[in-house]
Amino acid sequence: MTDAAELRGRTQELLAAHPPATTDRLDFLKARFDAGLAWVHYPEGLGGLGAPRSLQAVVDAELEAAGAPDNDPRRIGIGLGMAAPTILGFGTEEQKRRFLRPLWVGEEVWCQLFSEPGAGSDLAALGTRAVRDDGGPSRSSEAESGGDWVVNGQKVWTSSAHVARWAILIARTDPDVPKHRGITYFICDMTDPGVEVRPLRQITGEAEFNEVFLTDVRIPDSHRLGEVGDGWRVAQTTLMNERVSIGGMRIPREGGMIGPVSKTWRERPELRTHDLHQRLLTLWVEAEVARLTGERLRQQLVAGQPGPEGSGLKLAFARLNQEISGLEVELLGEEGLLYEDWTMRRPELVDFTGRDAGYRYLRSKGNSIEGGTNEVLLNIVAERVLGLPAEPRTDKDVAWKDLAR
Ligand SMILES: Cc1cc2nc3c(=O)[nH]c(=O)nc-3n(C[C@H](O)[C@H](O)[C@H](O)COP(=O)(O)OP(=O)(O)OC[C@H]3O[C@@H](n4cnc5c(N)ncnc54)[C@H](O)[C@@H]3O)c2cc1C
Repeated sequence: MTDAAELRGRTQELLAAHPPATTDRLDFLKARFDAGLAWVHYPEGLGGLGAPRSLQAVVDAELEAAGAPDNDPRRIGIGLGMAAPTILGFGTEEQKRRFLRPLWVGEEVWCQLFSEPGAGSDLAALGTRAVRDDGGPSRSSEAESGGDWVVNGQKVWTSSAHVARWAILIARTDPDVPKHRGITYFICDMTDPGVEVRPLRQITGEAEFNEVFLTDVRIPDSHRLGEVGDGWRVAQTTLMNERVSIGGMRIPREGGMIGPVSKTWRERPELRTHDLHQRLLTLWVEAEVARLTGERLRQQLVAGQPGPEGSGLKLAFARLNQEISGLEVELLGEEGLLYEDWTMRRPELVDFTGRDAGYRYLRSKGNSIEGGTNEVLLNIVAERVLGLPAEPRTDKDVAWKDLAR
């Protein structure tokens, strides 16, 4: 069993063989992955050592102290937080070897093709169709035997689709069975000529997300994740991990949204009032409790399988971000109302706390929608954590094709 001392030793060996000051960033990240120090709880050969997840902090601290580069989760968050645990949990050995390394080092960005114009909270109602076509010529350079699937439909709110190389995609493969049972999970090549990505401008002025039109997109069967018709179960792994990944990001003390407002408070005494002081202190404590709860939750996770408690964490994250960024705007008074740059951009990073107070305030509005709305997460906490009666579900035994739309 790998322990902290062994991990420290391995990290120092990595640093000695690849000094961060003189090693190319990507080369360093590849060497870190190959040394099993990327995510220590992943299996050997896939960036890990099969070590307890809690020991990742030991590696991270050594690397940070040595000034080593990181893989910038703001750029590859969907790959790291959602695609990777799903591939680990349901992928074939070939899929794990093909996808996890370029994903972790950031050579390949991932996006998530789940939501549709008619299927958001009720994701299982999705209508994008995948039909098997054993005869057609495969367009994928990475196709293996097993034939292709042909996918048609529309997805929406797809963060980072404009920079993504791959997507995790769920599509309907059997309309004749109830909605949860006829879904299959795929890895979609975003460079397929049938994939069209159009920007959607947000309240911040930027287009961090997109709508994505899929027209006769061919996906080789070797890029299916899990069994045909079992996509809903596979997607649960993605969604549960998404909540932990959004709500439980690893941040230092006074990191995240509470950081900038605390700094302003310290540096600008002329803005202070007694009332704002009380609110800031309360929010500071709540942010610290949420941060530590996130740390504990991450340490308890077995690779790939978080439970409904991640939904509670994500709820707290959204509420705190919105309250803290609101307080920051109030503290800054008129200055807080300025929004200097509303240029339409298509950013490469998803950054909740970047730029200025106005940006933080506006961007935080999406926190209670993305990764599951507050209302839906409250339902999950009510049913699966508190054991309260479930919402009535009248459509669970009706074939998808017979549902009212
Ligand atoms: C910034 C941002 C980034 C996103 N990125 C992605 C992405 O990369 N990929 C992706 O697939 N999706 C993404 N989404 C989409 C997101 O997952 C959906 O917006 C979300 O699931 C809600 O779906 P909807 O917008 O269709 O709203 P709806 O489901 O139509 O909900 C409308 C309202 O009804 C409420 N409601 C719905 N059902 C219930 C219920 N059972 N009980 C109580 N209230 C309910 C909701 O809480 C909400 O207030 C993103 C969204 C945002 C804001």
